[in-house]
Amino acid sequence: MLAATGCAGGNETQARAAGGQAAAAGEPRQETGQEMRPPSPSPPPPRDIDCDQVKCVSLTFDDGPGEHTGRLLDTLKAAGVRATFFMLGQMVREHPDLVRRMVLEGHEVANHTWSHRDLTGLSAAGVRSQIERTQEAVKDVTGVEPALMRPPYGATDEKVARAVGMPQILWSVDTMDWRHRSLVRNTEVGIQEPVHGDIVLYHDIHKPTVDSIPKVIEGLKERGFTLVTVTEMFQGEKLTPGETYTGRIEEAAQVAADPPPSGSPAGPPAR
Ligand SMILES: [Zn+2]
Repeated sequence: MLAATGCAGGNETQARAAGGQAAAAGEPRQETGQEMRPPSPSPPPPRDIDCDQVKCVSLTFDDGPGEHTGRLLDTLKAAGVRATFFMLGQMVREHPDLVRRMVLEGHEVANHTWSHRDLTGLSAAGVRSQIERTQEAVKDVTGVEPALMRPPYGATDEKVARAVGMPQILWSVDTMDWRHRSLVRNTEVGIQEPVHGDIVLYHDIHKPTVDSIPKVIEGLKERGFTLVTVTEMFQGEKLTPGETYTGRIEEAAQVAADPPPSGSPAGPPAR
């Protein structure tokens, strides 16, 4: 099992959703089924960004949408940046308007299960239910079906891989924002750690995270990065259902990792 440290905010998320406080936070609740559902938004066309040619990084936001997500969307819009949201199905049901807005503004909506359970502890049927309910929730409110999922805590195994039936997107930069809740730390790590092809893990349910993003975007742009969605990052690459991905591996890095040729200073002795 691959266990990672991210996403510990899920328990809070569950507590909040269970308490039904989202309604008090300004999200209108439909009392009856009679209201007209707004028309499905149409996403803007895909952008033509070649991450082989430009320096790319993906910001990803987990466990929402929540009370700070609207402000994050304002920030991303003002900066002309697209991100990827790995959302809990139960939160999608609480905040349908935010999810529609994500799609309308070109962000990628992705599946982070229904209720943030550790999938390695569930039956295959339990895993499928966590995934499928969330797919349905997102599709119901946006008309868009997510193509990517991220297992809670990064916890996955062979059984989970088979049951989810979607590419599993992990991350290569863990900001640990859920633990530190520090504006300064979130900002420093988010600007300084990424290299080309990285996927950065944040959680939009935490205020200090959302507060840090304007400076993070500014800093990454100054470092020459183009901020892309995860699907844009992998453009041209076929992602395999069940396979895990932590970032886009640079070809240069692969070349460097190959064993040096025989006879070279670092290689085996020539005969
Ligand atoms: Zn999570």
